[in-house]
Amino acid sequence: MGHMTLVQGDLTKMEVDAIVNAANNSLLGGGGVDGAIHRAGGPAILAECREIRARQGGCPTGEAVVTTAGNMPSRFVIHTVGPVWSGHDKEAKDDLLRNCYKNSLKHAAKINLETIAFPNISTGIYHFPKERAADIAIQAVKEMLEEYKVIKEVIFVCFDNENYDLYQEKLANLSKEV
Ligand code: ADP
Repeated sequence: MGHMTLVQGDLTKMEVDAIVNAANNSLLGGGGVDGAIHRAGGPAILAECREIRARQGGCPTGEAVVTTAGNMPSRFVIHTVGPVWSGHDKEAKDDLLRNCYKNSLKHAAKINLETIAFPNISTGIYHFPKERAADIAIQAVKEMLEEYKVIKEVIFVCFDNENYDLYQEKLANLSKEV
């Protein structure tokens, strides 16, 4: 079965089959990791996003679409749209975030990708509580690794220390379970 690993650093530099983008519904780029991906990957990514928009009109929250990675060392970008955190409908937000991880990996498995790197979706501009998001991410990925044998490695790429420390602790606890 595939496994989960952790690194701290810049997602755009990852040499993997696919990196996942924390995009927005428009697919036209934005701030945070989305901006970094479009800057590093170049205009080919936006061109494909525009084609997808023409076909299906953006990307619903919790869903995912795939494009080239342009000039980045990865092969593909899986764009998924995380929920914007707010104090109400918390369980619905949890479900949407879970769907981001699951649908991204479904797309990856469908095109036989083996190594996928995720940012900490929704924990930046979208303000999802970091610990709550980490629990959801790790659980969702664990379930998908059990289901999709083609996926060999899922790498959580944390940018800030707080997320890195949370993932380090939670993944260590998981590996202690029998
Ligand atoms: P969202 O709108 O889904 O919250 P953000 O891009 O604002 O998306 O933040 C998502 C996460 O990505 C945050 O934890 C942020 O620190 C992180 N991040 C920002 N830039 C990068 C990068 N170059 N590589 C990896 N993670 C990044």
